[in-house]
Formats: sequence, C-alpha cells, structure tokens
Amino acid sequence: MVLGNREKAEIEKYLNSPITEKTIVGDIFDYDSYDRYVITGFEGRERAFVQIQQGCNHRCTYCIVPFARGNNRSVPEADILHQIGELLERGFAEICLTGVDACSYQPSFSQLVRHILERFPNLPSLQFGSLDPAAVDDEFIALVGKYPNIYPHFHLSIQSGDNLVLKRMKRRHTREQVIELCNKIRKLRPEATFGADFICGFPTETEEQFENTLKLVDEAKISKLHVFPYSERSGTPAALMPQVSVEVRRERAKRLRQKGEE
Ligand code: SF4
Repeated sequence: MVLGNREKAEIEKYLNSPITEKTIVGDIFDYDSYDRYVITGFEGRERAFVQIQQGCNHRCTYCIVPFARGNNRSVPEADILHQIGELLERGFAEICLTGVDACSYQPSFSQLVRHILERFPNLPSLQFGSLDPAAVDDEFIALVGKYPNIYPHFHLSIQSGDNLVLKRMKRRHTREQVIELCNKIRKLRPEATFGADFICGFPTETEEQFENTLKLVDEAKISKLHVFPYSERSGTPAALMPQVSVEVRRERAKRLRQKGEE
C-alpha cells in the first residue's frame, strides 16, 4: 500500500483492515488544512525534524510541488512549541524546522524562530531545512547573530547564479542578494557555512550563464552543493521552454559537483 503522511501516523488502522484501496494519500487533496500529526521520536537519532508548514504559494516555472502539495498553510505556533517541548524532553538535542517553503511560514518565519528561542533558551541546536534567499529577512539574520544555539550552517535554495535564468525560473532573488545574505550572516557568525541547491541546464541556459553559477559558488563561498541536472515536469511552464540537451545538463552538473568537491 501507499499511505500519505497522515495515514502513516495511524498505520495500525490500515495494517489491521482488509486492503480495499492500494493508495491512500489524503493530504495531497486536502489543500486547506494542516495535517495534524505530532512526531514524538526518531529512534537512535539526535536530530528531530519539525514540520512548520506545508505547501507553497510560489510558482517557480520548473516546479510541480505546489500542484501536488497545494498552497501554503502553516502549523499553529502553539503546536510547534508543544512539539519541540516534547522532543526536548525525550532527549533530542537538535531540532530542525522543515517545510516545503519554510520561510513563508505565516504570520512570520522570523517571529516563529524568535519565539522558539525565547521559549527554549537551552535548546542545544536549532537548524533549518532549505531557506529561500528572497525570504530571509534582517530580523532572522539578527537572530542568527544573537543566539549561538542557531546552528551555523544554512542551506539556501539558490538554483542558479545567473540573474536572467533566475528570472526565467521565476525565483525571487538575484545573485547579488545571495552574496549579500551570506556576507551579512558571516559578519555576525564568522564560522558560518553555506550549502545550496542548484539546477544545471535549465531551459535556455547558455554556457556563460552556467559559468555565472560556478562563479557564484566562489563569490558567496558556498561549500556544500546539492546539484541536480534540470529535469522537466510536464504541466510546468519550463517544460515548454527551449530545452538544453540532456548531455549538456549532465555535463554541467558534473562540473558543478566537481566545484563542490574543490
Ligand atoms: S521550488 Fe520551492 S518555492 Fe518554488 S514553487 Fe517549488 S516549492 Fe515553491
């Protein structure tokens, strides 16, 4: 059987009843509600992941996620604080906030982070899944400077180092903003390191534009690269744009991974 997240939390119910449907994934269709399930433990691990939101209101031209996951809806703050409290009591030392588009947490991502740190001053390590460079605000950066228990590694969803490609992707940041963001954080926390997601061979990407991505890795000093050759998703605008050949996508991905190794 294939079960969705909500169903997974009640797995006994499905194990003990005759199989009538092979796929039960309620949360994909339930666009307006948050799937209330509380993760209470990850056996043998120090780090626990806390989902703070689901879905996404953006429409990056390559991405199919919002069509499957629906629009942004946030977990109520009280539930998140309660969940973190439980996890800390159970001995977890690292709490990682995650979400499809975590920075779009409503009413405010930075405010949520501040409230977590105020409520749990002894939280050993607060971490984040992927951060959107366009949505990280000065309030968040100030928190990074103020609270040493914010773990000083930040994974940014950058995707490209070329501004025209970023525009065609419908991302909301520029390469200059990425560099500025990394510098601002590094100024407050010199030990900070950065990781990033990149897509290679996005439709229309020229060699020169790809090289801007290679350059950005140096200019922003990004050390942990997650590299993906572009892969078209039918139904997305990017799938209708002039495509870069699969060989070139792979070759660029290889070069960018090598850059990451360096
Ligand atoms: S790439 Fe991220 S921000 Fe863009 S539409 Fe997909 S989920 Fe939303």
